[in-house]
Amino acid sequence: KEFRNKVKPNWCPGCGDFTVLASMQRAFANLGKEPEEVAIVSGIGCSGRIAGYVNSYGFHGVHGRSLPIAQGLKLANRDLTVVASGGDGDGFAIGMGHTVHAIRRNVDITYIVMDNQIYGLTKGQTSPRSEMGFKTKSTPNGSIEAAISPMEMALTVGAGFVAQTVSSDLKGMTAIIEAGIKHKGFSLINVYSPCVTYNKINTYDWFKQNLTSLDEIEGYDPSNRGQAMQTLMEHSGLVTGIIYQNTERPSYEELIKGYKEEPLVKQDINLTEEQFDRLISEFA
Ligand code: SF4
Repeated sequence: KEFRNKVKPNWCPGCGDFTVLASMQRAFANLGKEPEEVAIVSGIGCSGRIAGYVNSYGFHGVHGRSLPIAQGLKLANRDLTVVASGGDGDGFAIGMGHTVHAIRRNVDITYIVMDNQIYGLTKGQTSPRSEMGFKTKSTPNGSIEAAISPMEMALTVGAGFVAQTVSSDLKGMTAIIEAGIKHKGFSLINVYSPCVTYNKINTYDWFKQNLTSLDEIEGYDPSNRGQAMQTLMEHSGLVTGIIYQNTERPSYEELIKGYKEEPLVKQDINLTEEQFDRLISEFA
C-alpha cells in the first residue's frame, strides 16, 4: 500500500502542503486502502498540485471546481474513496458556491482545504481568508474586507463533519483525515497550511501561539452543534480538532432510490452495436 509516487513536489521548502500530502498518504495506508481505491480531485493553486503527488487516481481540475467533479465521481463509483482538495482561494472564493451546496448535499466525500490565507501560486494577493488590514501587493494599504470564517459557515449550512488542523501536527492531521474519510457523508477539513514564501504573518510560530486544541477544552462535545458554534466564536475560529460531527444524518447516496444497486460504473449498459456507435458519434 504505497501511496507515494516518484513525482517530486515543487512546493517551496517548508510549505505546509507537504504535511497535508504526507498525512493523506498515511491516512489511506492506515485505513487499509489500495491505490486503485482512492481518487483525489484538486483545483488550481499551489495546493492543487497534490493530485499528482499521490499514487492513486488523480484529477487536477479547474479553479474552484474540484467539488462538482468529486461528487460526480463518487456517485458514479461509490466504491472509491474520493478526496477533493485545494486552497482557500479555490474553495472559499471562486468555488464557494460549490462548497456550500456540497455541504448541504452531503455526498460521502472528504474535502481538504489547504488554508494559507493568501494566494500563493500568483505570488501573494489577499484571499478570502486574509484578515482585515492584511498587506499584500494587491492591498498595499491593508485589506478592507473581512475574512470569511469557513468553519462557522459550514455549521450554518448543515455540515455533518467539520474539523480543523495545522501543518505542524502530522499525527493529529492524519487522525483527522482518517476520521473524515470514515464519516458517512461530506466531511470538511480546513488545514492551516502556512505559505512560508508570501504570508509572513500567519506563520508556524503564529499558529503555535494562537491555536487552541479542542482536547484542552474541558467537556467539549463534538456532537453539540451549539457548543461548536459558540467555541468557534469565542476563539475567532482558531481551534484544532473535530469541531462537529453528526453521525445520524444519512448521506446523499443513502437517500437515492436504488442506492443498494450496483454502482453506475459496474452496471451493464447493455447497448447494441448500433446504439454504441451512435453514442460514440454524439461525443465525437
Ligand atoms: Fe507553498 Fe506558498 Fe510556496 Fe505556494 S508559494 S508552494 S503556498 S510556500
